[in-house]
Amino acid sequence: STGKDHAAVPGRVRVAVRLRPRNAEESVADADFADCVELQPELKRLKLRKNNWDADTYEFDEVLTEFSSQKRVYEVVARPVVESVLDGYNGTIMAYGQTGTGKTYTLGRLGEEDNSARGIMVRAMEDILADISLETDSVSVSYLQLYMETIQDLLDPANDNISIVEDPKTGDVSLPGASLVDIRDQQSFVELLRLGEAHRFAANTKLNTESSRSHAILMVHVKRSMKGRDAALSSENSNHSHTVKSIKPPVVRKGKLVVVDLAGSERIDKSGSEGHTLEEAKSINLSLSALGKCINALAENSAHVPFRDSKLTRLLRDSFGGTARTSLVITIGPSPRHRGETASTIMFGQRAM
Ligand code: ADP
Ligand code: MG
Repeated sequence: STGKDHAAVPGRVRVAVRLRPRNAEESVADADFADCVELQPELKRLKLRKNNWDADTYEFDEVLTEFSSQKRVYEVVARPVVESVLDGYNGTIMAYGQTGTGKTYTLGRLGEEDNSARGIMVRAMEDILADISLETDSVSVSYLQLYMETIQDLLDPANDNISIVEDPKTGDVSLPGASLVDIRDQQSFVELLRLGEAHRFAANTKLNTESSRSHAILMVHVKRSMKGRDAALSSENSNHSHTVKSIKPPVVRKGKLVVVDLAGSERIDKSGSEGHTLEEAKSINLSLSALGKCINALAENSAHVPFRDSKLTRLLRDSFGGTARTSLVITIGPSPRHRGETASTIMFGQRAM
């Protein structure tokens, strides 16, 4: 189910692959070995080496190299989703890959030391704040960690078991127990992300686990008053095939952006991962594999998408598929030593298309 135009269609998952550069350790240890992947970004192709003379070729919606800037990554992975959220749709941006391949670098970098390093969360909020009017509109965020099928509030550590509520009529998903903080300027948003990160670290220390074992989830709610703006905006929206023009647009337009820094995709039940219980391994695999199943079902246009199978997919139900835009960035490293993990990440991305 590939095809060049599917990326533009709401309800399908747009998949980009991003390769991180060799790190210092790999530059030394793998100095005599070629990278296990070779990218052809103009052709949107990735070659995964099988051996010295043979490689498998895969196509993606976007191929981001070790030289791709954070700005470019934002533009191809996130901007279309952010724009549709500003238009009143829901959307999801996710990063999937082995620990250490750049998921948090891609999504969560604050970029305070270097402005050009800002990641997707920070750039998305900049675009949102630039587009809305603080007099009539509002932006509010929740920041959560999902670990072992339990949702914790990263903005208020006392809330450590948040439940998901689904409106049976509209299908809207909400988390009434989660802190929802109004954002009026970029600086306070960055502070909030930093606070959330600190709480995440503390919570994981207490649980004696690593952040790579849990999903970090940012939810951004954008509510815009459309009074007096209807005419201009509905003609602007005519590129959306799902906009029904004959219906008067609602006076308030709501969109939700969900950004998910997924748990590391590596198998943690293999040798060398002492300290992880079987329970933990199963639970992490449960939500990631449930996500994989939902993504596959969407890619196949299946009538049944098994959202109910995990907390992660229940949470994403209203911002994934349907009229929502979904963007997945799979992150990989170049090292031939991790070829197996890299191959499985690539397959996860391929099955989404
Ligand atoms: P993950 O969240 O997938 O575990 P990180 O985002 O923490 O991985 O990245 C692991 C390390 O690699 C970090 O030190 C990070 O700064 C670095 N890194 C990741 N992606 C890039 C990139 N595209 N360019 C430069 N450094 C990167
Ligand atoms: Mg990370």
